[in-house]
Amino acid sequence: MYNEDDLVPISALADFTFCERRAALHFIECVWEDNVCTAEGTILHERVDDASFSETRGSVRIVRSVWLRSLVLGLVGKADMVEFHKTATVGVKLEGASGLWVPFPVEYKRGYLRHELSFAIQLCAQAICLEEMLGGNISTGAIFYGKTMRRMDVAFDDALRQRTEDAARKVHELIDSGITPKAEYSKKCKQCSLLNLCMPKVSKKASNYLMNVVDSASEAKEEAKND
Ligand code: SF4
Repeated sequence: MYNEDDLVPISALADFTFCERRAALHFIECVWEDNVCTAEGTILHERVDDASFSETRGSVRIVRSVWLRSLVLGLVGKADMVEFHKTATVGVKLEGASGLWVPFPVEYKRGYLRHELSFAIQLCAQAICLEEMLGGNISTGAIFYGKTMRRMDVAFDDALRQRTEDAARKVHELIDSGITPKAEYSKKCKQCSLLNLCMPKVSKKASNYLMNVVDSASEAKEEAKND
């Protein structure tokens, strides 16, 4: 169980799953930089935040910008939207509303409909927070993709819950260590808003250069010994 002072942002789990160095740059070194992707994402989230706080559509109650917290996983953050689906069976009670309701978190992302493990883990963490705060069990949520205006359901099965718990624990360990992992260039770097600050290609060249210098120096030393 974590203390209030030890909570880390839920979004750090998505960062960590995408790239451990990215999580460290954000949450250890406090490095932030917008690219087109994050700027569009920010606008999308602002639109969600601007909308009315709560509304009811038929048997669904919609609440936007919901603060979340889990002391078990040590997380804090905000859900873009939580739908509460009215149920006749097992659900939670809501203030000012009769009956039982099943929470259904929805996370907004830019781009096209696709499966991204980092997004699924972020959404699952939101569900775990809601379960801890409201009680009950949440089996499903959804990720809404702004470009295609479509959403993909995500099932919170045992495997995803385990990965989410592991990610939360590892994010805490990473932040506690205060050590930023070395940069390693890969395909995903092209999509990363920190590319220009992280400079993974330059880091690789620099480390290769240093390795060559060290190797040459060792070889020269060996040769000198043998002379
Ligand atoms: S540029 Fe690549 S290595 Fe650097 S933080 Fe982003 S994804 Fe990670």
